[in-house]
Amino acid sequence: MKTALLLIAGSLLILIVILAVNTANFESRQIEAEPADVSAFDSGAIAERLSRGLKLHTISHSLDGPIEAEAFFALHAQLASDYPLTHKTLVRETVSDYSLLYTWEGTKPELPAALLLAHQDVVPVETGSEDAWEQPPYSGHIDATHVWGRGAMDDKGSLFCIMEAVEGLIARGYQPERTVLLAFGHDEELGGPQGATQIAELLASRGIKAEYVLDEGGAVTEGTLSMLDSPVAVIGIAEKGSVSIDLVVETLGGHSSMPPRQTGIGILSAAIATLEANPVPGGIAGPVELMFNHIGPELDFPINMVMANLWLFRPVLERVFASDPSMDAMQRTTTAATIINGGVKTNVLPSRVKATVNFRILPGDTHDSVFEHVVGTIADDRIQVTKRRESRNPSPVSPVDSLGFKAIQKTVRDYFPTAIVTPYLVMGGTDSRYYSEISTNLYRFAPFLYNNEDRERIHGTNERIAIDTLGRAAGFYTRVIELTTAPGAANSL
Ligand SMILES: [Zn+2]
Repeated sequence: MKTALLLIAGSLLILIVILAVNTANFESRQIEAEPADVSAFDSGAIAERLSRGLKLHTISHSLDGPIEAEAFFALHAQLASDYPLTHKTLVRETVSDYSLLYTWEGTKPELPAALLLAHQDVVPVETGSEDAWEQPPYSGHIDATHVWGRGAMDDKGSLFCIMEAVEGLIARGYQPERTVLLAFGHDEELGGPQGATQIAELLASRGIKAEYVLDEGGAVTEGTLSMLDSPVAVIGIAEKGSVSIDLVVETLGGHSSMPPRQTGIGILSAAIATLEANPVPGGIAGPVELMFNHIGPELDFPINMVMANLWLFRPVLERVFASDPSMDAMQRTTTAATIINGGVKTNVLPSRVKATVNFRILPGDTHDSVFEHVVGTIADDRIQVTKRRESRNPSPVSPVDSLGFKAIQKTVRDYFPTAIVTPYLVMGGTDSRYYSEISTNLYRFAPFLYNNEDRERIHGTNERIAIDTLGRAAGFYTRVIELTTAPGAANSL
């Protein structure tokens, strides 16, 4: 008896020591901040140029809809006149009529390039929501604090600040060693079939490789993590894929007075319920685990101890994550039945019932593996299961020790010294995924500070951007370009 108690006490002691040692060794991954001079750019002047850009209706309506050609051409003309040095120094090419590719050849063009992305197009203003806008969506209205308009945050703010950075660098005689490429697609909001896809193909056909790609996606966020007071800068290192799977049941139909025990609707409903009860297995790994490693050391006891000891607490954390849709989406391929059709009359059994289930695919899964999961889970040969063509696999996961990541991470710390920087998984899609042939280092981050309320403005009403963040963003892009393209600059990382 005594020996058993001693054994238990001994094991507990060992466990406590292991937990404590792991927690003590769970060191901060944050780079020492060297606060930058954020007043180097004139935010008011950038706001004025952005405001004019926001007046242009570069709207992506639909894949088969009309293109706002005049608006895109007007934006191209504005860029040429607002950024004359850039247009004198860089080669500008038009791709698929409306997308832009700028090449600033480096002194060592044999080095892989630095590729910065943004998109010119914006989503339409939802019909009926116009009156909810405090300022008309294409007014480019400037008040004391903000520039208002569709596209201010997504993504003309980035586009203009990238141009400001390049113009500023040329003005002071900067010469990159590595070639700098700027690619501004015109149909990102429609999935980028003509813009990013074609630019990436063009670059690939020229044998061009990029050391890294910087696109939109993450930002500096405030108020996302209740346990952390500091803002969190999230840099997307991967994005989820997507597949929609159609389920069809065809039966004889007939009159509702003598139905079979299970109708087509019953068969299909049971299948959907089975899929919801048996989600694709997931877990804390990959980008989410990396995120824990970056945020964990900044948290207080006992949460830091939990994150430092995933070997023990992983199952508990996974269960906690599973209870919240936004957290669960980070650890698994999600299942969402989004369309169901069948039946037109109260007394007729439908002969054909159809449902569509959309899955957002976690890196590690593929649309093929999700399809197999669906077929195997339903296990009902009365149901025809087909995968829609527009499926896409998740992006590869980009490393966090590349030159590009380190430069972005360092620059975020310098321009947002209180922010905790972490890699993360992007839930939506960006243009960057098309560039995986060009580079293995794809990062999704825009240098703007957003709180929870701001984020709802993206694709929503009252989109606007704070004027005082514009100079900071231009400074950020300037520094990232310098750190990755100036001779010897990488040595400081
Ligand atoms: Zn966007």
